[in-house]
Amino acid sequence: MASLTTRRLAREYKTMAVMVDIYCADHHGDADERPCPDCQAFLAYAAQRLEKCPYGTEKPTCANCPIHCYKRTPRAQAKQIMRYAGPRMTLRHPWLALMHILDKFRKVEHPAELRRRTRKGRSDRQADDSISL
Ligand SMILES: [Zn+2]
Repeated sequence: MASLTTRRLAREYKTMAVMVDIYCADHHGDADERPCPDCQAFLAYAAQRLEKCPYGTEKPTCANCPIHCYKRTPRAQAKQIMRYAGPRMTLRHPWLALMHILDKFRKVEHPAELRRRTRKGRSDRQADDSISL
């Protein structure tokens, strides 16, 4: 966990951990530990992927990311957990949920897409629009 030092990635991890908590409490309620060993293993995997994310602090939310770095099984697990815990997180952790929504506006482009657009010479107006609160 030592390398999840940037606030952005630390928050991403926190969001993930909160979602896993919500999901695990409602689905694996009879496990001795919280989160249960399965969910702990998933979180460890997620943390490892975050640490290796090439976008670093510019990271989009994983759902928007052009690079799908999760293996098939944990990816299905992530989908399931987020679909369940996402809406529920808004109530319990409004701040984290809000930040997660703002992160969704962060656009990254696939390296190939970026090259294509640059060649066409079209400027991306949206990139200059800042989100004002
Ligand atoms: Zn669990």
